[in-house]
Amino acid sequence: MGKVTGFLEYERLEEGYEPVEKRLKNYKEFVIGLKADDSKVQAARCMDCGTPFCNNGCPVNNVIPDFNDLVFRADWKNAITVLHSTNNFPEFTGRICPAPCEAACVLNVNDDAVGIKSIEHAIIDRAWDEGWVTPLVADVKTGKKVAVVGSGPAGLAAAQQLARAGHSVTVFEKNDRVGGLLRYGIPDFKMEKSHIDRRVKQMEAEGVTFRTGVLVGEMPKDSKVTNWAKETVSPEQLKTEFDAVLLAGGSEQSRDLPVPGRDLDGVYFAMEFLPQQNKVNAGDKLKGQLRADGKHVVVIGGGDTGSDCVGTSNRHGAASVVQFELMPMPPETENRPMTWPYWPIKLRTSSSHEEGCQREFAIATKEFLGEKGKLTGVKTVRLEWQGGKMVEVAGSEQVLKADMALLAMGFVNPVATVLDAFGVAKDNRGNIKAGVEADTGYRTNVDKVFAAGDMRRGQSLVVWAIREGRQAAREIDGFLMGATTLPR
Ligand SMILES: Cc1cc2nc3c(=O)[nH]c(=O)nc-3n(C[C@H](O)[C@H](O)[C@H](O)COP(=O)(O)OP(=O)(O)OC[C@H]3O[C@@H](n4cnc5c(N)ncnc54)[C@H](O)[C@@H]3O)c2cc1C
Ligand code: SF4
Repeated sequence: MGKVTGFLEYERLEEGYEPVEKRLKNYKEFVIGLKADDSKVQAARCMDCGTPFCNNGCPVNNVIPDFNDLVFRADWKNAITVLHSTNNFPEFTGRICPAPCEAACVLNVNDDAVGIKSIEHAIIDRAWDEGWVTPLVADVKTGKKVAVVGSGPAGLAAAQQLARAGHSVTVFEKNDRVGGLLRYGIPDFKMEKSHIDRRVKQMEAEGVTFRTGVLVGEMPKDSKVTNWAKETVSPEQLKTEFDAVLLAGGSEQSRDLPVPGRDLDGVYFAMEFLPQQNKVNAGDKLKGQLRADGKHVVVIGGGDTGSDCVGTSNRHGAASVVQFELMPMPPETENRPMTWPYWPIKLRTSSSHEEGCQREFAIATKEFLGEKGKLTGVKTVRLEWQGGKMVEVAGSEQVLKADMALLAMGFVNPVATVLDAFGVAKDNRGNIKAGVEADTGYRTNVDKVFAAGDMRRGQSLVVWAIREGRQAAREIDGFLMGATTLPR
């Protein structure tokens, strides 16, 4: 424990943000990480609890008290070793993780949690700056070949672990760049893509082969899921050429809103809108990019994806941005003794909301209205709780002017045709059916085919995807070698 009285002496420090008017002019990251001295003060607040609930609240079980202590002692090099022992990509989670660890921090019972995520962010940025993040090439090659389908955080974590265990790993990605939703979902202003590029370089040096623009299986003809594949590979080919296959293709099927007017020009899935801006930021030229300039934008869905649509629309220069959420507005603060150490339901205001957005709660979309095939408005109705469910409030219909509506209501399941092409069994939500138990987990019903990440657990978080990728790698290594030393 760094400083016994630290939690009594020091307040939580938040990371800084560039001013709104400055950050809205571009798509660059705007979070100003803690300086070394501030990280030390923040780490001094850690109480090194006998039972560190933060460590269980973190899906990859980061050994938080240990790296806090090391940062307090300015031993940054060992801090990154501890952090990397559980998390392949702390630069992703240190930027975009919602930090369930902090909800579980014991200080959070009656004070402000330790700023764990900001310390993680500081450790990994320092490690890259100092040149401490280098390829870890396996001493011995096993001669086994593993195919990973999908290059999101689950596929990347699995590929890195498997390569370090000595296997020959090929990652197949249908899009033109590596990264999954880190690349073509999450906006650059939350996470710049250079973080993915330098990890890809590290992994290539560790022996991972990336094959982008290659679709494994097939997509439905009318699919709106991102797909820039120039080549197709069949599941049979993979099963013949590789000793094991990991399916880590995400949960890409967006939830639709089949109300009248859905086909109007101006109504799009968030995942048609967001990836285009990421492509443009990467230097690609797009014909007819979906843009919100001067438009009245309605974002339907109150989660992360919706918030990213708000931030992107404001950067385009939208005339107005309104975000709808079906559920009533949650309380501004949680009842901490009641909810700790679990993830509390409370009003979450993102940096994108702070940039300008009208938030409407307990509201449903009845119809998209249009003229000459183009969206002109959205007809809404208010909702309220009655008898344990949300019902429409009679006479509360309203029409809101809208030139663009973005559907950000989550994802229902992976693309079924890909799963069907592999013949893997699905659970009742349409995800791949596979357990997570030690020594038999992450296996599908098809011989030597494994599954991890959103494709297995359904729509989730980057940190969960990293956990699943790491654990699936361990199962695959055990399957191929009869035993494994990879961590769970
Ligand atoms: C807009 C948005 C914002 C988000 N913001 C956050 C956030 O701030 N914090 C957070 O923790 N989480 C966030 N999430 C969720 C997070 O991005 C996902 O949970 C995570 O990326 C899932 O990782 P994955 O590796 O399982 O799948 P994905 O990241 O979805 O990657 C799957 C990859 O597989 C590829 N693929 C699929 N099928 C095939 C095939 N047949 N052949 C070849 N390639 C294939 C896809 O093209 C894709 O690149 C956000 C999600 C979205 C959509
Ligand atoms: S990965 Fe997320 S939950 Fe884990 S320590 Fe980092 S911020 Fe907390």
